[in-house]
Amino acid sequence: MGKVYLVGAGPGDPDLLTVKAARLLACAGIVFHDSLVSREILQLIRRGAEVIDVGKRCGQKLLTQEEINSLLVSAAAKHDVVIRLKGGDPLIFGRAGEEIEALRNAGLDFEIVPGITAALGAAAAAGISLTDRRAASQVVISTFSRGTEGAQMDWGAISSTTTLALYMPGPDYAEVAHRLLEGGLPDDLPCVIVSNATGAEQQIRWTCIARLAREEKLPAPALMIVGRVASQKIQEISKAFWRSESHDRHAPRTAIS
Ligand code: SAH
Repeated sequence: MGKVYLVGAGPGDPDLLTVKAARLLACAGIVFHDSLVSREILQLIRRGAEVIDVGKRCGQKLLTQEEINSLLVSAAAKHDVVIRLKGGDPLIFGRAGEEIEALRNAGLDFEIVPGITAALGAAAAAGISLTDRRAASQVVISTFSRGTEGAQMDWGAISSTTTLALYMPGPDYAEVAHRLLEGGLPDDLPCVIVSNATGAEQQIRWTCIARLAREEKLPAPALMIVGRVASQKIQEISKAFWRSESHDRHAPRTAIS
């Protein structure tokens, strides 16, 4: 039986692939990849390897998760190196949990090779520190996407010093703004939208929740970083922030000096 590797392809730039991921791709027998994985990275796969796109994007499912799980298991009977290649990191919104369970149940040898998740690629692209100590005490990785069953955003976990990395925001920015406001965030809270972070088509839009609904849509994949760290002028706004009483339940837990 072969070994199955759940490999992170990083956010786009092939130079951000780990050395280990590149080494494994160069000796793969079969690769199952998502549509998020860039062409440049797919070109690093060993010539002669079987390459299967199991990507599901914009709800157009090519294969069900169960089908992917059983493909991984059966591939291990035929190949020494089976790779499940996912955009970013395999353990962040990558359904790796289900795949790991299937591999465990089948008694297969497997390994996880981390990748740079989109939020980190986006933060690097925008040049912001997600945990800037002047403005943030925690980072929350979340989504409003309905694909994550039973995973409603826990607004209790969001404070004025939270940096929210919002994956899969979708094209309806008005709806995103509505939900952020509904969660108690102030409308002047800065927000940066990063599309195709670290890739050739990268776009960055600096805005705030109040302006979000009117922003031109950026192409997928895109994510939003919401929080004071997304301000270009952290120092200027840090003192004046969270002034409205209506946001009391999210009162800052960390003093800003
Ligand atoms: N496992 C991936 C996330 C998969 S969910 C990771 O760790 O990054 C897919 C979502 O990730 C997209 O809808 C988008 O919100 C985000 N994403 C992935 N690649 C991105 C990129 N290059 N730029 C911006 N967002 C990206």
